[in-house]
Amino acid sequence: MFPERQEGRPLKPGEWRVIDATLRDARLMVSRTASRLAEIYNCLLPSSDPKRWTPVQKSTVALFKQHFKSDKAMDALQLQQAYRQILGELNAMQQNAFRVVDNAVVRREKEGDGHAFVRGNALPVYLAEFFFSEPPPGADKPAKGKPKFLTAAQRARLLIHQAAHLKLETGHRGGNFGFDRGDCAGGHPLKSFEQAYDNAFAYDLLAYCASQ
Ligand SMILES: [Zn+2]
Repeated sequence: MFPERQEGRPLKPGEWRVIDATLRDARLMVSRTASRLAEIYNCLLPSSDPKRWTPVQKSTVALFKQHFKSDKAMDALQLQQAYRQILGELNAMQQNAFRVVDNAVVRREKEGDGHAFVRGNALPVYLAEFFFSEPPPGADKPAKGKPKFLTAAQRARLLIHQAAHLKLETGHRGGNFGFDRGDCAGGHPLKSFEQAYDNAFAYDLLAYCASQ
């Protein structure tokens, strides 16, 4: 058997351009999320008066409670630091961090994330061919039913998700609920900060919702 890391193929130049643009989107989403978390630390202290919160602070507190199941200042600080680490990982990613594999390979992966995966929380990031599917001309969002291509935000979420595995060694604690969930006010199966903190899906979902 060849070592597993030999699986797939390196990126084509056009594919690297897609990833480069996606990395830029992902870094913006992650740094925006970290900044917003920094802005709610004081709000979550017991002495804070919610009447004095700005609209952005209010919505950030709501998203933090909704997706990370916490209203504690220390948890927000810890999560802010986690996002800064994810940003460091996204900043460090080069072309050779990625391999492209058949869609079927990703589907077979037990801990796969739909269209991408890492093994043992280590590089490379394996991306399905599907990751690079282009939308048909004139289409700006996926049609109903099974999507034929990923949106820019979905691509960015997939890379944020992989960076959370790589840098924070998160798993999918509490459940795998899908990177394509786009309902920011909706629920997911996670029950506690501890679960969300160790679940890569929670990171890509909050980064998506905090950068809308
Ligand atoms: Zn994952």
